[in-house]
Amino acid sequence: MATTAQTGEKPAEAGTGPFVTYDVRDGVAWVMLDRPQYSNAQNYRLLNELDDCFRKAIDDEAVKVIVLGGNGKHFSAGHDMGTPEKDSHLDRERRDLWWSHTELGGAERQYVLEQDAYLGLCRRWAAMPKPAIAMVQGACIAGGLMLAWVCDMIVASDDAFFQDPVLRMNQPGVEYFAHPFELPPRIAREFLYLGQRMPAPRAYELGMINRVVPRDQLRDEVAKIAAEIAERPRLGLALTKQAINLVEDLRGKRTSMDAVFHMHHFAHAQNQLTTGNLVGNFDAKAMAAANKAQAEKKK
Ligand code: ZN
Repeated sequence: MATTAQTGEKPAEAGTGPFVTYDVRDGVAWVMLDRPQYSNAQNYRLLNELDDCFRKAIDDEAVKVIVLGGNGKHFSAGHDMGTPEKDSHLDRERRDLWWSHTELGGAERQYVLEQDAYLGLCRRWAAMPKPAIAMVQGACIAGGLMLAWVCDMIVASDDAFFQDPVLRMNQPGVEYFAHPFELPPRIAREFLYLGQRMPAPRAYELGMINRVVPRDQLRDEVAKIAAEIAERPRLGLALTKQAINLVEDLRGKRTSMDAVFHMHHFAHAQNQLTTGNLVGNFDAKAMAAANKAQAEKKK
């Protein structure tokens, strides 16, 4: 494949975007994933657009609170595993000090890409000095969890569900391994081993989310909470957020996530070596079929 460095040309655009919408109202920045036709699957351009929106929200003095939601039926079905706008082959503007993945092979290619785009961006967003609320409806799967988990609060509609089915790909969960921090360890095991959908009311019982409301009240409920937070002083909010993040890191969140990230990449390498594919040829279609078979069995 001709690469950017070889040809000196800009890589072809994978889809035109924008993949995210941004709107500021009454001190609240509404950042909405906008690929509803693909259940807001996250390609790398979408992730960079998200990062741009967060940058804008932090820079804007008028913004006190950020809401992260998804347009359409679902919050996010996870990382892009095969839409026409999948763009893992394209170069991207990196947000951390990593080199480009596009010319690389072996295990290094995915490692540097995910260091920057998954682990790096998620950590950067979790550390944003303004509070963020995830507004979740429908599916919040795998990479979708990463976006919800980096927010300070999660408000879900009663039809929302949470799922990390990537153990089917030999992976110990998604790249941002917060599972045993978001859920009690025994429940995290179940969540990963069985890979089943966790309905919003169950996630609420376990303290993974803050509120469950009927679908038609989701936006209003989030707006109400955001408006209340927006009345607090900016610095006080930032310091409180930093304090909670600090405690989580002292409990081992950062170091354990680093360790598990390397297991995750051992698994990518193993898949690559044994099947020639990062995720053992387990694409979105295969995942959907496995989910369907699992749901049938439960009946
Ligand atoms: Zn990965």
